[in-house]
Amino acid sequence: MNQRTVARTIRHTGIGLHSGRPVHLEIHPAAAHSGIRFIRTDLSPHVEIVAHPHSVFDTALATRLGTEKAYVSTVEHLMAALFGLGIDNARVCVDAAEMPIVDGSAVPWLILLDEAGVEELEAARSIRVIKKPLEVVDPRDPTRFIRVEPSKHPRITYSIDFRNNALIGSQSLTLSLTGRSFCEALSHARTFCTAEEVDFMRSRGLARGGSLENAIVVSRTEGLLNSSGLRAPDEFVRHKILDCIGDLALLGTPISGHIIAHKAGHDLHTALAKLLIEESDAVEIRTVTAKNSRSSLARLLDFPSSLSEVPDFSSLSLVTG
Ligand SMILES: [Zn+2]
Repeated sequence: MNQRTVARTIRHTGIGLHSGRPVHLEIHPAAAHSGIRFIRTDLSPHVEIVAHPHSVFDTALATRLGTEKAYVSTVEHLMAALFGLGIDNARVCVDAAEMPIVDGSAVPWLILLDEAGVEELEAARSIRVIKKPLEVVDPRDPTRFIRVEPSKHPRITYSIDFRNNALIGSQSLTLSLTGRSFCEALSHARTFCTAEEVDFMRSRGLARGGSLENAIVVSRTEGLLNSSGLRAPDEFVRHKILDCIGDLALLGTPISGHIIAHKAGHDLHTALAKLLIEESDAVEIRTVTAKNSRSSLARLLDFPSSLSEVPDFSSLSLVTG
């Protein structure tokens, strides 16, 4: 399967989660091997930021790419949607320091990209095949980790443990790591936070655009604050996998391996992405040519070229309550 881009330019206006201000965004087609690039069009001159693990400079509240002077924040949900439809190359022009939050999931991004359409380019796609296990552990809390192991079937296993919050609690899920699986089972899962985190962020002038329309908010005393309920009982762990896929998409190639994460977050996801670049002994980069497109590698590249090929997409994304 070849590399892809969007077939035409699409535009979207949304709200920045932290600024609460309108953000105008355009996604343009791009040439093969150019990758995903973010362009800050509100700065003069414009600043281009390559979606790459080495562009990550902050992961505290979201994944932020660029530098202190010029960055784009909260790129992970769009990056995950681009992965879902197998789009390797695009220019994302944005006139603010953060991406629109949309509904807190990747569904609006998938719908927008699907409207643009997917175009195959005349260039083969590469994948990263895991040869040896690699692991990142949080030195401050060794119970938090992410690792990747060799596996014939690309998979992700993610677990979370919110002991202080009965509604979230412990959740664990294993899914195949394909574009189709992302669209079907993960794209609808929304960002979540606790009511206490919202109070803390608001006290620091953040989350001004945050609302129950773009996040799940869980209160320790009152439970779920969203009257429409959850989109899945385990929506929390599904969103963590969505974030992880979006962060690993910074590599620009799919991964053939088994990713296992426990209580991880953007810090550990992006640290693993960096390790996958640095540890060349543990990773083999293979090009998927027409010759081996019928092999197991092709299954890994199960990227739908349109949402109409994903029958479960509409039913899952609309499920609430
Ligand atoms: Zn997220």
